[in-house]
Amino acid sequence: MPSKFNILLISCLLTSFSSFATQHFAIAIHGGAGTISPSTVSADKIKLYEAKLKQATDAGYAILERGGSSLDAVNTAVNILENSELFNAGKGAVYTFDGMHELDASIMDGRTREAGAVASVKHIKNPINLARLVMTDSVHVMLSGSGAEEFALQKGMELVPNRYFDTISRYQSLQKAKEKIRKLESASSTASAFRANYVELDNEYKMGTVGAVALDKQGNLAAATSTGGMTAKRYGRIGDSPVIGAGTWADNESCAVSATGHGEFFIRYNVAADICAKVKYQKKSIEKASNEVIFGPMHKAGGTGGVIVIDNKGNIALTYNTVGMYRASRKQGEDAKVAIFAD
Ligand code: ASP
Repeated sequence: MPSKFNILLISCLLTSFSSFATQHFAIAIHGGAGTISPSTVSADKIKLYEAKLKQATDAGYAILERGGSSLDAVNTAVNILENSELFNAGKGAVYTFDGMHELDASIMDGRTREAGAVASVKHIKNPINLARLVMTDSVHVMLSGSGAEEFALQKGMELVPNRYFDTISRYQSLQKAKEKIRKLESASSTASAFRANYVELDNEYKMGTVGAVALDKQGNLAAATSTGGMTAKRYGRIGDSPVIGAGTWADNESCAVSATGHGEFFIRYNVAADICAKVKYQKKSIEKASNEVIFGPMHKAGGTGGVIVIDNKGNIALTYNTVGMYRASRKQGEDAKVAIFAD
């Protein structure tokens, strides 16, 4: 018969072991970065954004709280934002120059470094779900266009008409962007002048990409990003969001990142992976690493945007070089914190 003392000792050991094995879980999300200020977003709209950001954060948090995976948490949070017209992902995605919608998304598992991505899909209601299927059910990392949709059909996913993604406000943005492009084309005497001016235009018309990063109780990190890309994009343009390393990254040994901003710069500066490389090899905090990347050479070259980052201890950094970034986070035992404008 074990003595009372032995039973007490065993239960103390079990308690300390389980608290040792349980990580501090946390989640952070974003809904895009850009010229977001109280003068550009109405008070009513602010309330809608805040409520949706909180809903997505709390849904992801609930999954983590009951011991679910960080992959499920980021997937669920992104689905909620994709299904909202407020954001440039899923329903509410921006228009291409030709008046269509072409969606990009990617997801990464920090435990295995497995990843899945889709680019330029036109009929997938929740592109992040297809990106996850590419990760788990295909031998590839990135599928694009009609091939990705053929794979979706094979996996039993329903396709939606491209018009499902339509919204009036994004249509109006397209008309304004096209008007500016026409003016730029006639005012720019050389291709390089047009290119320089176009960067400014892109800065104005990107916004609303969504993403999430999370750490679960098992100590696993995950990241996910989904977008409609940039208004008036042409020629099958693909941004950073589906590019693993640029727009999305997760590695249990360092951190998980989801980015939003001017995709061309985020690809060229390999933003998400670069932040985690600084954490991994230079032992920098996520705060320092993300500041160096977001305000460093990329910004000096003209790149604008932001990132949400979480490390394997549950620290969170929300860093952006734009006027504002739709963002929210929630750490274990705390309430959700939601913000839009500069602190
Ligand atoms: N990064 C996205 C892209 O370039 C746009 C955004 O984040 O707003 O497609």
